Amino acid sequence: MNVYAQFEEIESEIKRLLLDANQSVRICVAWINGQVFGPVFQRLLDKGVQIELICNDDPVNDGTAMHLPPGIKRYAIRSRISTALMHNKFCVIDEETVLTGSYNWSKKAPLSFENIVVAKGDFLLAKSFLHEFYDLISFYENKSADKLQRCPSCRSLQFNLGIFGNESGLYNESKVDIWSVCVAKHHAHHVGEQYEQFVRAQLGLDDEHEYECNDLDKESVMAAFRRERQRIERIQAYFLGHRSLSIHAVGWVVPDNFNEHIEWGVEQRFSVRIKWRDMYYRKVIPSRLHHGIGDVDRIIAEHQP
Ligand SMILES: [Zn+2]
Ligand SMILES: [Zn+2]
Repeated sequence: MNVYAQFEEIESEIKRLLLDANQSVRICVAWINGQVFGPVFQRLLDKGVQIELICNDDPVNDGTAMHLPPGIKRYAIRSRISTALMHNKFCVIDEETVLTGSYNWSKKAPLSFENIVVAKGDFLLAKSFLHEFYDLISFYENKSADKLQRCPSCRSLQFNLGIFGNESGLYNESKVDIWSVCVAKHHAHHVGEQYEQFVRAQLGLDDEHEYECNDLDKESVMAAFRRERQRIERIQAYFLGHRSLSIHAVGWVVPDNFNEHIEWGVEQRFSVRIKWRDMYYRKVIPSRLHHGIGDVDRIIAEHQP
């Protein structure tokens, strides 16, 4: 593993690293200078390297896009909210080298004070950037997500949270209680329930540690990456399927202070841990609902183990 930072001549360093690519280049930047990088990409395409590029769908890129060769797979993304910028600047080469930092791959960038960090051979790091790369594509391409309603009490957005009970019976049926929860104040209402079959096993909701392995070689980590992508896409597709009540997130009630409770007899406290959320709302729906806020205690009281 080799990590270094660079503050000068960043553009030529990036070009040098890109030209070393043998299989794949994934770039995620807000803006890109086609005059500078177009010829580099053409040389890579000529030797069979696959190039995927995420950048902003805006006029700054339109002017320079004509210099990008057509063989690149491009994802022009458009913010749905004006304050939500896609502000990443990273690149993954051959699933093993990560470039990231303040440097914009755009026209004016060579004159300003910038940095890049280059990490070679840290496959877990490469994996997390690859996840972000494909999460961003799903986030921006997913148009089928349904619209969130407003909370009747505070007008903030509210999402439907499914809480799974234990599975039972021949078909591993589990009851899913669905709560609408608002983002700002966590006002909550029990809006209904559904029954799902085999859902935990089918979706792999129980085995989040399944892919934690000690083999950190490139092949093992990238095999884990592809399994994780499949699971993410399977869960997303499952919950976007037609059902009478939409589910935007899935959670469990989990103990907050298990160790203190066991060791010191402190009263056990719980919170709602959200284990899956619709990719489309990943910036809106929190990862945990804490006790004592809004109506969270009502959810906990009904579902605590
Ligand atoms: Zn509310
Ligand atoms: Zn209920």
